[in-house]
Amino acid sequence: MRSVTDYALARRAVLRDLARGVLTRLDVCDAHPELVRAALNVGVPLPGSCPVCGAEELREVSYVYGDKLKDANGRAIASAAELERLRARHDEFACYDVEICCECRWNHLRRRSLDGRLHAS
Ligand SMILES: [Zn+2]
Repeated sequence: MRSVTDYALARRAVLRDLARGVLTRLDVCDAHPELVRAALNVGVPLPGSCPVCGAEELREVSYVYGDKLKDANGRAIASAAELERLRARHDEFACYDVEICCECRWNHLRRRSLDGRLHAS
């Protein structure tokens, strides 16, 4: 079984604080240029519109981390096939799925999971 931590509650809390004015767009639309570039190049389109600006430009990028991943450590996953290859070759690595709006640069960590052979179901 994969171990998954979902950050939907944290996402709702951030959006609530934005609506209340506790946070500003500058606080939540701060995606690093590298992250926006990854979203444009390898991001998977997400259904629905951006919760901040309303544009239908939401994408998800998955980053993988693990000591044994070598050159793939910390890299954005380019395709489902690449993720399958990592799963087949490595016992364990962490996967971070980040939501990004390519229009306003809203970004949020959607979930963190442990993946790899140890977590194959
Ligand atoms: Zn947006």
